[in-house]
Amino acid sequence: MKIFRNIELLDGQYGCNVYLIDGEVLIDTGTGLNFVDMKKQIEQVCDIRHLKTIVNTHSHFDHTGGDKKTRDWLKAKIAIHEKDVDDLHSANVLAEKFGTTARIITADEALNFGDFIRTTNFNFEVIHTPGHTPGSICLYEKDKKILISGDTLFADSVGRTDLPKGNQKALTDSLKIILDLNTEYLFPGHGPMKYGGISFVVKRMLNHLVEHDKFL
Ligand SMILES: [Zn+2]
Repeated sequence: MKIFRNIELLDGQYGCNVYLIDGEVLIDTGTGLNFVDMKKQIEQVCDIRHLKTIVNTHSHFDHTGGDKKTRDWLKAKIAIHEKDVDDLHSANVLAEKFGTTARIITADEALNFGDFIRTTNFNFEVIHTPGHTPGSICLYEKDKKILISGDTLFADSVGRTDLPKGNQKALTDSLKIILDLNTEYLFPGHGPMKYGGISFVVKRMLNHLVEHDKFL
């Protein structure tokens, strides 16, 4: 489904929202349990010869479980923030929740804050937003005011911090960074997209986290 000019959201039960940018970069790969279906959808909307990069918003299984199959198929490289490289590679606790065991994936490229993911029509800056995981990232397109937010920020909530290596204080700081960005279009790792009113949600979640903190 086209959600923005040259950005597709792949439909289906892949475990997370999978985005295809310009037919050149894939954001996350879901669990991989419906890989054949995902592959078909990708083939329908782009020329796979140009699809050479997989960017993971973080290491959790529901976003990276399809990495290996997708990389083998496309001969693409896998990029993830440097702080999530080891967790991508090692056993992932979330895999068991999906009734499968962990897989070994080695990242091809470690990302850092300020790196750019460039395609024909987009320049997405890597914004390091730890909290949900240590190496969670958002991808920000300044000119088009798009934020691909992974599990850091959803249309109406934020990512949980009670999983291993989650950190609520870090998430609060990350939301403050997001608040400084001029975002019109929010494309999160799960659930619906959001158009407009994003700083309102971020402020509300920040207040909520600060209130919550008082009682911890
Ligand atoms: Zn996650």
